[in-house]
Amino acid sequence: MTAETLAQWMRQSHSTVVLTGAGMSTESGIPDFRSQSGWWQNIDPRAVASTESLQNNYELFREFYQMRMQALEHCVPHTGHHILADFEKRGLVSLIATQNVDQFHQQAGSKAVAELHGNIVTMRCQKCSKPHSKQQFQKNAVCTYCSGKLRPNVVLFGETLPSDAWNLALNEIQHANIVIVIGTSLEVYPVNQLPLIAKGRLVSINLESSNDNGQFDLVIEGAAGGVLAELDQALEGYKKK
Ligand code: NAD
Ligand code: ZN
Repeated sequence: MTAETLAQWMRQSHSTVVLTGAGMSTESGIPDFRSQSGWWQNIDPRAVASTESLQNNYELFREFYQMRMQALEHCVPHTGHHILADFEKRGLVSLIATQNVDQFHQQAGSKAVAELHGNIVTMRCQKCSKPHSKQQFQKNAVCTYCSGKLRPNVVLFGETLPSDAWNLALNEIQHANIVIVIGTSLEVYPVNQLPLIAKGRLVSINLESSNDNGQFDLVIEGAAGGVLAELDQALEGYKKK
């Protein structure tokens, strides 16, 4: 079964939700976490992206996010992001629920995006929550109001997910005819619970089929960009609106 099968299902579907992870952005040049443990100062990124390191090792925390923000500045969304944005305009995708913090879906033009893990594009004060600029964070400034630590609006390990994004994703996934899971190892809780509540068809698009534990109705092995281009071709300009 191929992208052709998924295209047929999408023509019949009233609601299709896409759930993306870091593998959606690797073709833009942003590495995922899974394939790079120990690549940055021999530190597991998952350990730095935590409330523990924000509180007790702020310098390392800040350097890590500064490095990730700088990496983003040299990268742009790829064809796959643009195809998903176009699917939304054509009424073929109702929501993208993403674990990615790069805002590439929005940059590509997607409007209905639930940022389950926040983003590293906007900043706030850890203490009083007032917004600050990326530049202030990058030059190691403190909060202008209360001298608190600045941080990205990202969800750290040890924090709960933003309830708006979570409830939206939960509701849309529960009612979807199809949920397409793209480029995630489904190792991070609680997002890995979302496919379990899907009542419709569950599809995986992943470079490796290793994330298939038998829960998917269709597994398409391949890079997100290429598979989405095939899917787009199979849909031949089909629109629902
Ligand atoms: P992960 O690193 O655990 O897994 C990535 C998955 O994507 C793997 O299953 C891999 O086989 C697959 N993959 C890699 N390249 C692919 C491609 N071109 N096409 C299709 N599949 C591909 O990622 P995760 O499950 O998203 O969890 C990691 C956590 O790290 C998340 O919380 C996320 O917020 C964060 N993260 C975000 C970014 C980003 O915003 N771009 C980057 C790295 C990590
Ligand atoms: Zn403050």
